Amino acid sequence: MKPKIAIIICGLSENRQFVTNSYIQAIHHSGGLPLIIPLIKSNVAIQEYISLCDGFLFCGGGDITPLLFGQEPLDKLGETDITLDIFQLRFMRHVLLSGKPILAICRGMQLLNIACNGTICQDISLKQKDCLNHMQRSSRKDISHKIITKSGTLLHRLIGKIVYTNSFHHQTVDRLGKGIICSANTSDGIIEGIELHNHSFAVGVQWHPEAMYHSTPVMRKLFFSFIHMSSLIHE
Ligand code: MN
Repeated sequence: MKPKIAIIICGLSENRQFVTNSYIQAIHHSGGLPLIIPLIKSNVAIQEYISLCDGFLFCGGGDITPLLFGQEPLDKLGETDITLDIFQLRFMRHVLLSGKPILAICRGMQLLNIACNGTICQDISLKQKDCLNHMQRSSRKDISHKIITKSGTLLHRLIGKIVYTNSFHHQTVDRLGKGIICSANTSDGIIEGIELHNHSFAVGVQWHPEAMYHSTPVMRKLFFSFIHMSSLIHE
């Protein structure tokens, strides 16, 4: 049996819940069985989904309501949806308690940090003036900037020291959560990767590896490793 990979719902649109196709395909092509987890306001349902699945993918999306990390909204905050935020945060905290593998992409990485009581900078320009453009205007599959991973981290072992990635974010992880370490930065010091210390696989990346899946072997390796770790839990 393939490891069952929960893809937590990316967003809500009018009366629909959705997951972007590239995440589903990346899990499928990496040998996982993708299962889409809907927003249901029930801790019992969340626990059942966590028991059912072997690995958990948290996707990109809009901004997270700052009240959930102890801040008031600032001028450059983008669109938020507190219903989705509370659900995903609750789901993330339950998954963390289970110890099962987590791959957290873009917004998902920020969610991982908040779930561990870290904070988010609501717009990169509020943190520092001189920074790279982290919101590229080219295709999602195109590289935009370089990241440098930190030796000794899981991410470094998985993808190597220097990787070129895409970049579609205007926010950034600010104060690291409890047990969270920074695993990668860009040259301007912005955090591009985090992971949970003392966890088999709780990896967050600020870029979108699913959009570079077909063009870039190291992005496939990231997904393969996630699925592999999930398969170990499964056995
Ligand atoms: Mn970036």
